[in-house]
Amino acid sequence: MISDWFRKPIGEAKSRQPEEAQAEAIFRALSGICPMCGEALRGHSYQLFAITVADESTEILVEFIQSARGHSWETLSHFQTFDPMKNALEAFALGCPDTILALLLVRDPFELYDTSSVEYFEALNQKESATWRCLFATNNWRGFGTAALAG
Ligand SMILES: [Zn+2]
Repeated sequence: MISDWFRKPIGEAKSRQPEEAQAEAIFRALSGICPMCGEALRGHSYQLFAITVADESTEILVEFIQSARGHSWETLSHFQTFDPMKNALEAFALGCPDTILALLLVRDPFELYDTSSVEYFEALNQKESATWRCLFATNNWRGFGTAALAG
């Protein structure tokens, strides 16, 4: 029983930012260290799951945050709104090498010289990690290789 939303590619907006810039933004926001295992981010992977414009409607923003914190992945997956002239709030999965996932909410400012910041972080348990991991395309996980070298 796979619903329609599951079949749709998730995170179409992610091509808006060069992958390297995205990896670097997360890398910098986390100071290069995984908040779950305390190890360097090299060897970890991440994938964008949902994104919303952060400064338009408080209602939408609250729903986005509540869906994320409540692990309502299906609801959260419907948030795929991006406006290059507005701040964005992004939900990422960060994967430890041991397959545990963390939920990251990252504020992505549109101003060129402003920096991304992690607004919320939560390590998921084995079961939650496995459930969420099923909703990602297996070949879309990105590493921190280049960012790690630059940092
Ligand atoms: Zn880790």
